[in-house]
Amino acid sequence: MSSELSVDTVIPARRVVSDKYRVVHASDVDTLRNTLARPLSGTSEVVTEYEQDLATWFGARHAVALSSGGAALSVALYASGVGPGDEVLLTPSCPLCTIYPIIAAGAVPIFIDTREHGFGADPVSVRERRTPRTRALIDIPMWGYPTEVDTLQSLTRELGLKLILDLAHSHGTTLHGQPLSRFGDVSCFSTHERKPLATGEGGFLLTDDDALAQRGRDYSRFGNLNGKDFGLNYKLAALPAALGKSRLASLAEQIGKRRENARYFLHRLDHSRVNEKTIIDGGEPNYYFLNLQLRFADNRAFIDYLDDHGIPSDIKRYGCKALYEFPALARYRAACPNAEALLGGMTTIPVHPGVSTDELDYMAACINRYDAA
Ligand SMILES: *Cc1c(COP(=O)(O)O)cnc(C)c1O
Repeated sequence: MSSELSVDTVIPARRVVSDKYRVVHASDVDTLRNTLARPLSGTSEVVTEYEQDLATWFGARHAVALSSGGAALSVALYASGVGPGDEVLLTPSCPLCTIYPIIAAGAVPIFIDTREHGFGADPVSVRERRTPRTRALIDIPMWGYPTEVDTLQSLTRELGLKLILDLAHSHGTTLHGQPLSRFGDVSCFSTHERKPLATGEGGFLLTDDDALAQRGRDYSRFGNLNGKDFGLNYKLAALPAALGKSRLASLAEQIGKRRENARYFLHRLDHSRVNEKTIIDGGEPNYYFLNLQLRFADNRAFIDYLDDHGIPSDIKRYGCKALYEFPALARYRAACPNAEALLGGMTTIPVHPGVSTDELDYMAACINRYDAA
């Protein structure tokens, strides 16, 4: 597919925009050096201090630091009482990372559709597909765009299900001025290198439920080795905890920069078939990635065109498609037309704090001059 240029189009020189952002603070080295003088295991006070800071930052009663976002999901499922044979509802538009912990728990993933305009779970689909065996619903706000977690909170309360939020992309995303985690029974976060708060590998969960927090904490520490309670080791070590604690101090500023970059880019974007994905009323994305809704006859050709111009897409990088399209998950197939349409009709744009104004101009110019005809 070639793009046609109008005569007076200024063609920007090709460049490569990185979709990775590495926060490196001058203070990181001091932080690590000072931590080395302290106990380094997952039961170190360093980890407790990090947990207290996380709880404060997100306005949660409890934070439990864990070794990864995947570990946070496993611990959240266990702490929510999900066991072998139980069913867990989730949308198929999330990464493989979200579904494997369900399968590892011996539970059965049941796909429900998203809303038409966004990745939040569709309440109609939830009501239709839950059974007496359903224990929990996992909602996954993708790329930091808020979902209708307030509606899902009342729905799951009514139906007697636990609401687990996979907020691996959504540190700092809000609905009605509140962090999304305020609406879940338990919320799971990743602090993998690529996520808005980065510790290399790592994760944590947040909850206001004392019993759930205790169950999660015990489970992630081999049941405290008391030989009574079951558990595995999902603790976060002190060094990444120390990094997380120190980097948390600049997270709000980084999210501010992402929002500023998104505004700047959107102000320059001008194409009749491209606009930002819907932001729900009262919601504010953290702009982990800006999401563009595409209305071309061949959206994939547009994504390839951007890729050829050095503008990466998460859709292409991860081969995003409804999870039941993957061979290992084909047996869980259930009709989710909204989720398929959403994934097939979008792309992601990097607006992290490392993206320069020139790069934002470049990306908008490349899109604006694309002519699919
Ligand atoms: C990254 C990610 C995870 C897994 O987090 P890890 O820290 O890599 O284990 C889970 N869910 C979503 C939506 C993610 O993006």
